[in-house]
Formats: sequence, C-alpha cells, structure tokens
Amino acid sequence: MTPQATLGILGGGQLARMLALAAAPLNVRVLFLEPDPQAPARVCAEQLQAAYTDPAGLARLAECDAVTLEFENVPVEALAALSGRVPVRPGGALLERSKHRAREKEALQAAGAQTAPFVLIESEGDLSGALERVGGRGVLKTAELGYDGKGQARVRSDAELQFAWNELGQVPCVLEGWVEFAREVSLGVARRPGGELAFSGLTENLHVGGVLRRSVYRPGDPVQVQARALARAVAETWELEGLLTLEFFEQPGGELLVNEVAPRVHNSGHLTQNGGGVSQFEAQVRAALDWPLHDFAPLLPCAMVNILGWASGQEPDWQGILQLEGAHLHLYGKAHRPGRKLGHVNLVAQDEGTLRARLDELEGLIPY
Ligand code: AMP
Repeated sequence: MTPQATLGILGGGQLARMLALAAAPLNVRVLFLEPDPQAPARVCAEQLQAAYTDPAGLARLAECDAVTLEFENVPVEALAALSGRVPVRPGGALLERSKHRAREKEALQAAGAQTAPFVLIESEGDLSGALERVGGRGVLKTAELGYDGKGQARVRSDAELQFAWNELGQVPCVLEGWVEFAREVSLGVARRPGGELAFSGLTENLHVGGVLRRSVYRPGDPVQVQARALARAVAETWELEGLLTLEFFEQPGGELLVNEVAPRVHNSGHLTQNGGGVSQFEAQVRAALDWPLHDFAPLLPCAMVNILGWASGQEPDWQGILQLEGAHLHLYGKAHRPGRKLGHVNLVAQDEGTLRARLDELEGLIPY
C-alpha cells in the first residue's frame, strides 16, 4: 500500500513549518494547532487556529495517526486531552522532564550523563551557600520557559545572585555552575517505539549573546562517538519515542557535559536540510509515525548561519546570499523584529576547504 499518514503538530512556528515541508514528499498530511494567525507553518499545512488547550482543536489532532510537537512547554491539559486517543511522540513523561531544568538534569544523571553542578532555588532560603556549592561562579536560569539565553543571568557573588533572582521574579530557578567549555556541540537522536535508533552527526555551535549564530557539521569529529553513546543512553533510559536533541559543553579534556535537551528538532540541526542525507525534520516525522529510520547525518561538509532580526543598517545582503554558490536561503515568513529568528542559510560544499571559504564569505553577508 502507498505510504500515507496524517501527522498532528502542537505549535505552528518555523519548526512546524519545516516539519511539514519534510512530511509532504512522504505523502504525510500535516495538521497543526496554533493560535497565531500569522503562524509560519500556515503556508504548507492545515492550521487549527485555536489555543493549545482548545477541546475542538485537540479532538481534530486526536484523529491523526500520531501527534508530535515543536516546543517543549506543551500545557499538561493538552497532553491529558490527547492521552489514550492518539500516540504523542515524544510523550508526556519525557516532556515533563525536559521542560524543567532541575528535573531534566536529575534524569540525565540517572541515564549516566554528566551535567554542570546545580542547585534548585525555590525560596529565599535556598540562596544561602548555593553559589559556593556550584563553584563560586554560575548562571541562574528560570527552571521553566527559558530559551535562547532568555530568563538567565550570570552571577559571581551572593549579592549578584540575590539581585538576579529578584530580577527573574523570584520564580523557581536553577543555579548552574559556570562551565569553562572548549566548545559547544550538539547531536540529535530519533527512536521508534520498538527501540530502533538513528543519530545525526555532531555539529559545533557558536552562540552570541546566548543565541545560536552558526553551526558547522564536523564529519569524523573525535567526540561524536561519546556524544552518540550519551544520546543512546538518554533515549533508551527515557524510552524516547520521537526525536530529541542534546546540547553539550565539551570540556578542555574532551569530556562532554549535557547542557540541555530539546525534545524535538533543533536549530543546530537545520543544516541537515541541505547536507545530502535525511534531514532532522524527516527523521522526526518518521519517528513520530513509527516508520523506518535512517541516520540523519549530512553526507557533505555543511554549515548554517542564523538570520536574526537586524538593527538599523545591519540588514543581510540578500543578493549576495542568493548569489553565493552552495548557499540555501530558508526564510520563515515572520514579521521583522530585532533579535527574532527570521530564517537561516545552509551552506554546502564538496570539501571542507571550500566550505570554510564560503562560510567566511557568508558571515560577511549577515552582520551581527
Ligand atoms: P541555554 O539557554 O541554557 O542553552 O544557554 C544559552 C547559552 O549560554 C549556552 O549555549 C552557553 O553558551 C551559555 N551558557 C549557559 N549555561 C552556561 C554555563 N553553565 N556555563 C557557561 N556557559 C553557559
């Protein structure tokens, strides 16, 4: 029988848009639940325009073959409404872990992965001695709802810690020890309900101001074996169904600490769209539908540079990007706002030397 399916997605941003674009050639129809009338996914999938907790919208999603998501903070009411009616991949227990930084770190350690030292700060009393316990210097992060460096502050003294906690609204936070990392790297893993696994390749990531600027695929990177082993341990211990991405801090000796986990495709994996192999989006679609998986590492040297909303006079050189050989422009159809993720450019080349030269050129076309 011809492959076909209907996939529901919670959320309608750029990740849902790119999931739907990857689903189309597989004859997979996508419905997504999203209140924003300007949702980026609306151009390539059917929108159920309603709140994530809307009973009628959730009832439509429950008629799909499976439901997946593009953001981790799915309301518990939505998951409860879908439970038992349609497979949600990744499912509720995994999402409960990955949306709370302290629960996530505990679950990572239970799976055998190392994290930065941390202390959960839930009340004023938890502040005393906390900084000392994580090594005297750290980052205070809201336990939930933080992303792209938002909801976090660097602290070097007890006074700074107290100030930061007040500034963050005295909500539950995690104080993490500061990590002097050599590099930031990430890797995706997909798993079917029966246990079949597939992995992405290792990407090296550069953040500016807490936001991803650039990712480069590193074929044959020496830490990929370690990253895959950790990804396997987490996927199996957490009984992953679907796809998740691990972000790591590589320590100067080469050992990896897990910074955080996203239960979905990730910005650092966008380069898989043009690297010649299976994309991370196709991998999530297949894993969510319980279809056969393949590793989703690129086949060619490739990289990605993000396009954020620019300050005045800093607009990207669009013609230059369109003219650059090996560059693939991906825009999300979002209104311009400074700092907002509006798109990315994937770059691909036959060899690493050419990729490096093109990447230098591309960096010059996208000011930051
Ligand atoms: P996050 O949102 O937690 O991924 O943090 C955004 C970025 O801030 C990371 O990608 C790092 O570049 C930096 N960062 C976060 N936590 C730490 C830490 N504990 N030590 C050093 N840098 C950090």
